[in-house]
Amino acid sequence: MYDRWEAKLFSIKHDIKRIRTNYMRIRKSIQKKVKNKNLQNKLLTKYGFRERKRVEDKLKKVSTILAEIAKEYNADLVRESLRDLKLNGKKKSKQLNYRLSSFPYRKFITYIDYKFYERGLNVVEVNAKKSSITCPICGCVDKGNRVDKETFSCRRCGFAFNAQYVACLNLFSRSNDGVVAIRSGRIYLIHRSTVRPPKWWWSM
Ligand SMILES: [Zn+2]
Repeated sequence: MYDRWEAKLFSIKHDIKRIRTNYMRIRKSIQKKVKNKNLQNKLLTKYGFRERKRVEDKLKKVSTILAEIAKEYNADLVRESLRDLKLNGKKKSKQLNYRLSSFPYRKFITYIDYKFYERGLNVVEVNAKKSSITCPICGCVDKGNRVDKETFSCRRCGFAFNAQYVACLNLFSRSNDGVVAIRSGRIYLIHRSTVRPPKWWWSM
């Protein structure tokens, strides 16, 4: 077991939300304009099929890109646990509900897991609880750390970074019970047993 792992941060752009919004618009206009029920159903099925196909193609593409990049670095993937998503209705938060409705998360994970296993890479599941308000460097948990949708700024140690990436760093740190350290643009995970004082942790 290594006590120092390194992470890579990058984002992959996709237009799945846009595709879904477009098809939602199409569905609404069919329901409004086509009065004949039979024809309406036919059209809804046809466009529903097209939408699924387009979204699935995108999911496959994105997960393949991700797995190929991981393979290049011989890296495993850390992702949030599906356990929360499996709870039915009641326990899901508003935010999670929104995420699930605007992006087929579960399906995406199925593809990702498959593409990683196919390449002999591991997928590690971790608990994502409070990953958006926790500082990956000093561990401070505070709602105020999340300044807005894009910005994270730790109230304790001052670490400021893109909020999406911060959530990723937290998942990364939880994969081996460690804390994250950033030095000269490189991101490390250091196991808790080898921690040093916070000042050391980040100098970009
Ligand atoms: Zn901090």
